[in-house]
Amino acid sequence: MAEFSNTMDVFKLLEKTNCRKCNKPTCLAFAAAVFQGQIALSDCPFVSEKILEEYGAGRQAYESTFEQDYIKVMTELKARVKQRFSQAEPAELADQLGGRCMNGRLTLKILGKDFSIDPTGEIITDIHVNPWIAPPVLNYVVSSKGVPLAGSWVPFRELASSKDWARFFEYQCEGALKKVADTYPAFFEDIIELFNGRQVENHYDADIALIIHPLPLLPMLICYNHPEEGLESDLNLFFDSTADQNLPVQNIYTLSTGLANMFKKLAINHG
Ligand code: SF4
Repeated sequence: MAEFSNTMDVFKLLEKTNCRKCNKPTCLAFAAAVFQGQIALSDCPFVSEKILEEYGAGRQAYESTFEQDYIKVMTELKARVKQRFSQAEPAELADQLGGRCMNGRLTLKILGKDFSIDPTGEIITDIHVNPWIAPPVLNYVVSSKGVPLAGSWVPFRELASSKDWARFFEYQCEGALKKVADTYPAFFEDIIELFNGRQVENHYDADIALIIHPLPLLPMLICYNHPEEGLESDLNLFFDSTADQNLPVQNIYTLSTGLANMFKKLAINHG
């Protein structure tokens, strides 16, 4: 079975008409999402059965591959969490990672909700743990250097090693969130109420500026400007300049894309 080595391998198979029938803004954005395992190649109706067979990329195959990959990633991460717990006391970890130690577990506030991680890498929380959130949370425990926040905000593209992801970040995170903000007036109120968002002033002269905390040492600043006289609205995301030292950029990307999709679903449901 043929495999994709990068986004361009997927892109080459597409019509390149940017018709949006797959709900992505461009064929390139679609290719990136397929390569990252977020959607199936079969979601583009113009990819032939022959190609789908060649890449084992029918929906069923995609689901089972995604599940297998997810189990593999989580098993590896849990082993590394176990090792991290064997090297440091939960209280020490909590200090480093901006969490709390409770009953031998490390508890982190994630978007205002408690997520506890036990020494075997199990995540215990009252809410559903989505597949886009579990690996970044465990990787935070494993790889965060515990670098205190610098208080200076930078765009995603200025984080170390973000080059390969920056274009897709613009489409899949900022672009997706802008659409939600343009369409659903209650979007920002929902973020404040449901995810412990905090409105802040004077950030880049934005009409609305909000900070949320997907992880304690990974705050995210959302800046939005309403459309006005011939000018489109715009939405930009910023991270603390230490973000790439507290979570690998790939996980920051996964987390941000997952958040954008979750906000989109919420907005549709609340619509
Ligand atoms: S449906 Fe296919 S051709 Fe159309 S934008 Fe999506 S990937 Fe491109």
